[in-house]
Amino acid sequence: MSIVDNIAQIHERITHAVARAGRNADDIALMAVSKTKPAHAIEEAYRAGIRLFGENRVQEFAEKQPAFTNLVDAQFHLIGHLQSNKSGKAAALFHAIDSVDSLKLAERLNASAQAEDKILPILIEINIGGEEQKAGIAPGSKELESLLAAAPQLTSLSIRGLMTVPPHTDDPECVRPFFKKLRELRDQIAAQKLPRVGMHVLSMGMSHDFEVAIEEGSSCVRVGTAIFGER
Ligand SMILES: *Cc1c(COP(=O)(O)O)cnc(C)c1O
Repeated sequence: MSIVDNIAQIHERITHAVARAGRNADDIALMAVSKTKPAHAIEEAYRAGIRLFGENRVQEFAEKQPAFTNLVDAQFHLIGHLQSNKSGKAAALFHAIDSVDSLKLAERLNASAQAEDKILPILIEINIGGEEQKAGIAPGSKELESLLAAAPQLTSLSIRGLMTVPPHTDDPECVRPFFKKLRELRDQIAAQKLPRVGMHVLSMGMSHDFEVAIEEGSSCVRVGTAIFGER
């Protein structure tokens, strides 16, 4: 199967999931996760209509990026863990950072975005399964509260919502409660109507579980393997 065929198939699966959930396909963004994949694979996905891409390493994307100057309306988001000492480079390279996992990183990114004279959209990454080895802020933690409370000072960031990578299981049904939990956390934060805190984006769902994520309210599915093949 070619990348173009894979993308067509994913769109079809999204259409079915959206119908089951009584949602609108326009409300789901399909992000192609292109980490480890060469520039020509990204260009092929672009020609098939993909405009949103996810990369997980600053250095890898810095090396690939010169090939994409002709993909004028493509958006590249960082979805992998970012060390704060690389925030300057990340703020310059990416259209958005979807993996902000501490107040300290948010403050560094804010300063970097300010220096770049841009407003940087971000998502807060939540460790929804409470896994020790995983990045992300714990739901209900002091850290999350402090980050949300700092939003009025983070004037060069635009907080858009939440992102999560739930615990891995072979059965997507087992992930459903984690997706549900993230949606409830989002709703609960949104209901507080905090200044400069937007909560429209719910980035959840990957190749093996994006349909379940859509049924549970995802607004952005991040699909790598099912588009580009095994890494
Ligand atoms: C790699 C990655 C994905 C895509 O995973 P697939 O299983 O290949 O679809 C999605 N989100 C994040 C954060 C990733 O690192």
